[in-house]
Amino acid sequence: MKLLIKNGRVIDPQSGTDETLDILLDRGKITEIKPKIEGKGLKVIDASRLVVAPGFIDMHVHLREPGNEEKETIKTGALAAAKGGYTSIACMPNTAPVNDTRGVTEYILSEAKRNAVVNVFPIAAVTRGLCGEMLTDMADLSSAGAIAFSDDGQPIENSLVMRRALEYSKLLDTLIIDHCEDKNLSSEGIMHEGYYSYKLGMKGIPSSSEEITIARDIILAKETDARVHIAHLSVKGAVEHLKKAKKENVKVTAEVTPHHLLLNDSHMESFNTDLKVNPPLRSKDDVHALLEAIKEDYIDVFATDHAPHTPDEKDVEIDQAPFGINGLETAVSLLLDKLVNKNIIGIEKFIAMMSTNPARILGLENKGKIAVGSDADLTILKLHQEVVVDKNQFRSKSRNTPFHGWKLKGAPVMTIVGGKIVYP
Ligand SMILES: [Zn+2]
Repeated sequence: MKLLIKNGRVIDPQSGTDETLDILLDRGKITEIKPKIEGKGLKVIDASRLVVAPGFIDMHVHLREPGNEEKETIKTGALAAAKGGYTSIACMPNTAPVNDTRGVTEYILSEAKRNAVVNVFPIAAVTRGLCGEMLTDMADLSSAGAIAFSDDGQPIENSLVMRRALEYSKLLDTLIIDHCEDKNLSSEGIMHEGYYSYKLGMKGIPSSSEEITIARDIILAKETDARVHIAHLSVKGAVEHLKKAKKENVKVTAEVTPHHLLLNDSHMESFNTDLKVNPPLRSKDDVHALLEAIKEDYIDVFATDHAPHTPDEKDVEIDQAPFGINGLETAVSLLLDKLVNKNIIGIEKFIAMMSTNPARILGLENKGKIAVGSDADLTILKLHQEVVVDKNQFRSKSRNTPFHGWKLKGAPVMTIVGGKIVYP
């Protein structure tokens, strides 16, 4: 059935649109955008006083299937995404088995087709088994449907392996998503190395662990003229490298997570294992540098790094707990409340970083925009909707959020994928 969205404030950063418009959706596409659309036999949605945005895309999600279905499945992760306002998600390959062969990529795509209410794009491993040694068959994985390549969770320590990966990615016109960490420096670290790690007696992960790797990979991206996307940027020094590289037109893009913007290492005084994340929550100084870089347009994307874990896994001593925060169902409200409604960034930039930019970086030509002929993926927002984060209401299988109980203003109120309402 055709869907008509009436009287919404349509914001499309790609075309610079910000006006009250009607949008007609038919057979999975946007077919008309006008100040007034009338017609018979349509399902009409009144979007008065709501913002209509191109569908949000989270390019950094851990869905845990295959292999760790007790934490999350493709089905539950997609339900969580829809509730969180996302129409598309890209899932990292650190499953069991690792997504390093065509069979796993095809399995994820077929499960997604069967069970997922949002679009799911598999990211395949750069190296076999994420071991950092032998490259996967990137051409075969690309043709199977892998949208990008990453060993996320693990750095690629060998510079030659990273260089080869970049060379192949350029040939295939795909993207390497880079987890920047020097394991020799981070070793058994639990939290950011600094005042609070000394105070709390916890082993620290120094900023240099991230800075050294981003610096190396920018050098390699420059040398190979390949595209590299920096995952979960967290420290000031890494931001400096990113800025310099962008000024020199190196093909580097970057993402930041809500938790690295809204929390810092002082919160670790609570010893809450739900705050344990990799890269760790950094200092206030680092948070400030990240926010400034967003304002100056150096950071391209908000991504959640949605990393579900079961309560049993997190309900242990902090040094034993796994890294990760459950992000899909809290990100939009957190960012609307803390950044948009507090006038740190405008709504247009927010939408660009949630949709336009990730679509461009991932090469999703028919997504990330509101235009006639593009995919009928839309996220509808109510900027002043008051919500209280309640992890017990999550559609995700896991509950590991440090934001439980937070009162926030701004929320996704409807998610439309391929012209179908998938939330509420
Ligand atoms: Zn990572």
